[in-house]
Amino acid sequence: MTTVIDGKAVAADVVSKVRAAAEKLTADTGVVPGIAVVIVGEDPASKVYVASKGKKARECGFHSVEHKLPAETRQADLVALIEKLNADPAIHGILVQLPLPDHIDAGRIIQTISPDKDVDGFHFINVGKLGTGELDTAFVPCTPAGSMLLIERVLGRDLSGLNAVVVGRSNIVGKPMANLLLAANATVTVAHSRTKNLPDVCRAADIVVAAVGRPEMIKGDWIKPGATVIDVGINRLEAGADGKSKLVGDVDYAGASERAGAITPVPGGVGPMTIALLMANTMTSAYRAADRKPPR
Ligand code: NDP
Repeated sequence: MTTVIDGKAVAADVVSKVRAAAEKLTADTGVVPGIAVVIVGEDPASKVYVASKGKKARECGFHSVEHKLPAETRQADLVALIEKLNADPAIHGILVQLPLPDHIDAGRIIQTISPDKDVDGFHFINVGKLGTGELDTAFVPCTPAGSMLLIERVLGRDLSGLNAVVVGRSNIVGKPMANLLLAANATVTVAHSRTKNLPDVCRAADIVVAAVGRPEMIKGDWIKPGATVIDVGINRLEAGADGKSKLVGDVDYAGASERAGAITPVPGGVGPMTIALLMANTMTSAYRAADRKPPR
């Protein structure tokens, strides 16, 4: 019998702990965690994400501000806004919603955010800290950090002796995920589009993390019996005969759940963890700014 990992429930638990920690910080020091979300342009999906981040921040008791800028905003003006937020003591987390319009250099913008307020964990300083195992002072990207918490719920914090395969090597999911697994003592393989014999590579894994962006690519018979399967993928399938579109992951859930020991569903697995970890990172940043040790 496979265990279905309930990401919604774990995320709700994270959010309630963040809220309690924020209340304690405010009671002890007067500091209210603050998050600024910046959106440029009218991308409908981005607008939904930004609204849900603001809502979740308020649920956590944070001070939350949204900066909605027109699509034609000049890069220099966006840089100036970020510099202002970097200097604002009421703001502990700065999040620039991606993608940005083509005329803006997203890499430059990310590197403008102070590493101390980079709650997305994309700044080179935070990437470097994760790569060198300086986890106590880093900000770790939210999706891999959330995936790691789900793995922890199943297997504990020490993954010594376990083989993990991460399928995907993006900077926002695959690579940081591999570093986190390594920091937890797993033996890690990172697979990608040039990997040969991917099914066999996966079959050797006690932990499979799928972050590919290809619907149901990872088949049930690629999964070692009893393995823990974390499906990061979010793919929307075109409407079928019933006229409704459907969200699926990168793993063939029906097939994989016949063999996995534990598996995340899509939706309701990794998805809700990302925003919960964004709140946790912002709370951590506020604790650091107040010179207090953040709760884990
Ligand atoms: P990217 O497109 O940046 O990276 C995809 C990775 O998959 C690449 O490394 C690519 O390899 C690899 N890949 C592509 N095709 C194959 C293949 N046939 N075999 C093996 N590897 C392959 O995607 P992201 O990392 O940004 O996202 C991955 C998935 O996770 C997406 O479905 C996305 O929607 C989802 N996602 C979910 C989030 C959440 O909150 N749950 C947050 C972020 C992403 P190569 O490098 O060789 O091209």
